[in-house]
Amino acid sequence: MEIPPELEELLAEVLAATMQGSLFFLLNFNPFEFFIQFLRSIDNLSFFLRRNNMTINTPRNSRVEVDVSGNTITITTAFNYSGSPNAQGAPRPGWPSALTYRTAFEQGIVYHWNGNYTVFGFNVTVTTEIVNRLTRRVPVEIRNRNGTSFAQHTLPWCPSNSTNHIIMYAGLNNQEDLNRFRWVAAHEFGHILGLRDWYVFPEPLPYSIMSDQGTYVQDRDVEAVIRAFATMERQLPRWGSSLH
Ligand SMILES: [Zn+2]
Repeated sequence: MEIPPELEELLAEVLAATMQGSLFFLLNFNPFEFFIQFLRSIDNLSFFLRRNNMTINTPRNSRVEVDVSGNTITITTAFNYSGSPNAQGAPRPGWPSALTYRTAFEQGIVYHWNGNYTVFGFNVTVTTEIVNRLTRRVPVEIRNRNGTSFAQHTLPWCPSNSTNHIIMYAGLNNQEDLNRFRWVAAHEFGHILGLRDWYVFPEPLPYSIMSDQGTYVQDRDVEAVIRAFATMERQLPRWGSSLH
């Protein structure tokens, strides 16, 4: 009986693979790589949160508190404004209802960081509360000229870091659109919550408050905040969560 060359080749490979002690070789299967991927797929943090019923501890001296209790996530913060007179309470020219920058800034944060999400397999409700207190406030400087708003902190990021602050540019020819101003406020607040910019090139940009396309806060953003507060390390949102 004549053995077809393909079969002969295959048999030779089987023999070689067997001699190496592994048939995985035949399947183009690298057990080491598989093991590494498996380890990466295990999310220790989500196991931790499930085991602890989604409870994390926020540092007592934090300027931003993230309290996770069962299905309720409460973000609490306070701001200390400086800069433009409009930040102190004067109405912002050209905006409806004589809105001040300060009010619009807080509206954006409360509006965006609020809602129902699914994080680590749990359905949760996120509520953000801006409170009045004389200590543990995040500095916000509103500059009444054109520029690119940003949040800044020294590394490593930490929610109690006194250098965490937000600079909002609000010149009359800059961010005149109220909703855009609100979105930028929510984005910068994401940095205060420990999130990193998530700009991906080439486009399309991911859906995330930390991207640059004005999308709402996503499941992945809330997950990243929880990761940040559980690990005290800055986080990048991750692909894979559902969209809002
Ligand atoms: Zn940013």
